[in-house]
Amino acid sequence: MNLILLGAPGAGKGTQAEKICEKLSIPAISTGNILREAIANKTEMGLKAKSFIDAGKLVPDEVVIGIINDRLKEDDCKNGFILDGFPRTIPQAEALDRMDVHIDRVIDIEVPDEKIASRLSGRRVCLKCGATYHTEFKQPKVEGVCDVCGDVLVQRKDDMPETVLDRLATYHEQTEPLKDFYSEKGILRIVEGQQEVADTTALTFKALED
Ligand code: AMP
Repeated sequence: MNLILLGAPGAGKGTQAEKICEKLSIPAISTGNILREAIANKTEMGLKAKSFIDAGKLVPDEVVIGIINDRLKEDDCKNGFILDGFPRTIPQAEALDRMDVHIDRVIDIEVPDEKIASRLSGRRVCLKCGATYHTEFKQPKVEGVCDVCGDVLVQRKDDMPETVLDRLATYHEQTEPLKDFYSEKGILRIVEGQQEVADTTALTFKALED
């Protein structure tokens, strides 16, 4: 199954991507994680992307389209994949169409803007393996330590309140139009993000079957 997860920053795309990945054994591909890894490794792409990410803006389309074009050619995508955080603009969605991949479902996880800021302020991430946690809703076994790889958990710079407002504005302006784009193709399903991760996951799995 080839899937796209849509939703505002902090809506829970990454967590749901992990759940689907476990259930269907297909890779979850997060452009945000790939870019953060590039920044940590100080690659040319990372250096180019850093200022956009820190400002809560989108990285230029050609950069992320290139990332996805390469990634989808890898062997582990043969039986399906989950795109988490791509596409985020209409030109990115059109580029994906041109890559000749068939998308089966687009799940849009909806959370009201008012709830996003508190969700993001509690989010903690592992910069090494990309796993995400929450100080209240999804705590690691040992505080500040990643369950998966044991690395230290940090708060993303772009999860700070002042940047979150910019990211939400960018989402409404550039990413939300994708709902109509995929609704017209008949493959969009809306999931209302719930307080409990397990409840959102149940709705997400149901949306995959509809
Ligand atoms: P995320 O981890 O998905 O919230 O992404 C973090 C940041 O990476 C975003 O705020 C953007 O600056 C950048 N980014 C990730 N995916 C994309 C994309 N598809 N298009 C443009 N920028 C992206």
